[in-house]
Amino acid sequence: MDEHMSDGLGVTDTSAIGSELSGLEGVRNLYIHFPFCRSKCTYCALHSRAGSSADERARYVARIAEAIREIARRRAPSHFLSTVYFGGGTPALCDLAPLFDALAPLISPAECEFTVELNPLDVSSDTLAALKGGGVNRVSMGVQSLDDHVLAKMGRGYTFHDAERAFYLLKESFENAGVDFIAGYPGEEVALSPRYARLAKWGLAHCSVYSLILEENSILGRRVKSGIMKEDDIPGDDEALNRVALMARLLSNIGLERYEISSHAVPGFECRHNLAVWRGEDYIGLGDGAYGRIGLKRTIGMGGGVDWKCQTETVTYEADRKERSLFRLRTREGIDASAFPQWTATLDKFTDEALLEKTGTVYRLTERGTEVCDTILSELV
Ligand code: SF4
Repeated sequence: MDEHMSDGLGVTDTSAIGSELSGLEGVRNLYIHFPFCRSKCTYCALHSRAGSSADERARYVARIAEAIREIARRRAPSHFLSTVYFGGGTPALCDLAPLFDALAPLISPAECEFTVELNPLDVSSDTLAALKGGGVNRVSMGVQSLDDHVLAKMGRGYTFHDAERAFYLLKESFENAGVDFIAGYPGEEVALSPRYARLAKWGLAHCSVYSLILEENSILGRRVKSGIMKEDDIPGDDEALNRVALMARLLSNIGLERYEISSHAVPGFECRHNLAVWRGEDYIGLGDGAYGRIGLKRTIGMGGGVDWKCQTETVTYEADRKERSLFRLRTREGIDASAFPQWTATLDKFTDEALLEKTGTVYRLTERGTEVCDTILSELV
């Protein structure tokens, strides 16, 4: 979600949303980041940390709620948000009620896709009732693996059966419920057919499958760097991609179509928020570690928890135009090169290599191309 091409100067603002930002009135997508977790998972390099206090989380939520009220003050009463996404981190560690109250004037419940990311450990009848009462209508639960040994090594704190129970409870409240997996974690048992068969019955509306990336600032990355673990212990790209392909086949067999390189959905249940970002729409980012894109401005919340500051950069018109077009390549809609003749030679080269297919001026990834999307994008930037 956070792909930016920025070549302007950074301006740090002490406010939560950037007091000099104009154009907030028309933006239809809002992302809120919650940088708090119970503990740090071994593979994770996301902007999140363990060890926050209830008081810190309450103050964080209060600051976000104030920022939302400021956004509401700048908008016409009927100018509703089309998507809201609470990501993290672990949003449900916070009392979200003040945010639901602040968001109410900005949301038309029948029209807004309102997503919250959950951890299986968050799922209880009370939490689900609170989310539903607050207008949430889509949940995404991070399961990450079907293999209990791997879940333990990741530091997730639950088993496959716990995750399964949590998902069935979710489904009682939310038709639009999905899960995330990471493929290629060291030691993952590939032959888990009974578990795949169980997963097939969950009634998933959405599923994201990401290849493990060995990030330097993750626990796993630090273990490899310090020699506690060998890089050879991490499955190579090919192995991880095989596992992604295996999951893609399973998901396709149960009616989930791949609509983006990592995302699969029952038709009609694609994530509207993520699609809006990939299609180049503006989005407001609120919170420590949240990115936003408003006109030529790119924002990021920086600076440690409650006291984050909004840093704003301005990109050139050309960089903005490219960024908004490029990331469509991730989706099955593909990229229209008619406005970018400078891309044609590169795109044709990948088409000759059967990594892209071309219809008129639109290029789409082939199945093999999905494995090297980042390489293709890096040649176009
Ligand atoms: S993977 Fe999710 S739950 Fe685990 S540390 Fe990262 S943000 Fe927190």
